[in-house]
Amino acid sequence: MAKSVETKRGREKEMVSQMIALYCKKQHHTKNGLCAACAALDAYARQRSEKCPFMETKTFCSNCSVHCYKPVMREKIRAVMRFAGPRMILYHPVAAIRHMVESQKEKRRLENTE
Ligand SMILES: [Zn+2]
Repeated sequence: MAKSVETKRGREKEMVSQMIALYCKKQHHTKNGLCAACAALDAYARQRSEKCPFMETKTFCSNCSVHCYKPVMREKIRAVMRFAGPRMILYHPVAAIRHMVESQKEKRRLENTE
C-alpha cells in the first residue's frame, strides 16, 4: 500500500510539472525551463503533493488540491489546468488518459458514497 501511494504521489508531481511546463512554454514563451513565476508555482505544487494527507484515497489534484492551495497559488494552478488540461492529451497522451480514467473512477466512487 505504502508503495502505491508513493507511486501515485510521484505521478501527480510529474503530471503537475508537465502541465506547468506546457503552460509556461505556450503562455509565457519560455524556451528552456520555466520562468520565475512558473518555477515558484511548480515548487509549490510539488510541495503540496509531497505533504498531501489524502494521497491514499484521492485520485488527483483536480479533485482535491485546489482546496489546500493558498488563494494566490490556487488561482495560478487553476489557470494552468484550464489551459494545459485539454492539451495534455496531445502532449502526454498516456498520462492524460490514465488521469481521466482515474478521475472518472474517483468521481463514481464519490457519487456512490453520498
Ligand atoms: Zn511561466
